Amino acid sequence: METHELDDESYRCFTCNAVFRGRVFEIAREWERTHFSSTIPEVEIVDAYGLECYCSQTCLDARRDMVMAAEAVPIRRVDGIGPVNPCANCGGPVDMTEFHLAYAGMCSDMRGAMALTVDVDYLAVLCKKCHPYGRTYKTCTDIEATVVNAPF
Ligand SMILES: [Zn+2]
Ligand SMILES: [Zn+2]
Repeated sequence: METHELDDESYRCFTCNAVFRGRVFEIAREWERTHFSSTIPEVEIVDAYGLECYCSQTCLDARRDMVMAAEAVPIRRVDGIGPVNPCANCGGPVDMTEFHLAYAGMCSDMRGAMALTVDVDYLAVLCKKCHPYGRTYKTCTDIEATVVNAPF
């Protein structure tokens, strides 16, 4: 198999090892909240950490259960918007208008440093009790920087 060098706009698929660019599929851990002040609810993401990236939805699906198991978070799909979603861990209510931890399977089109989100599949949200503020919060890092710098 031919070896390609990774540059700033390339990614290596965690499942099939292919080097790709453009459309990126990833599983991300996000610290976010929903605003209902506008007509269309807006999700404010202050911290997003790309756990793994993939070349296709199929490759994402292949590792999704394993990645979530490694995070020790059960998959419990929600709409991710709210106003209230059940916690993936304890089933308790998560107030989506307050900052909370969310896991999402994402599909984005990378345009240089910009990521245009095509699709988001919320795999889990966690309540304060299961993931209190401060335990997982890190200072802001954007997804692109995290993905590119991930150790392959
Ligand atoms: Zn792949
Ligand atoms: Zn909980």
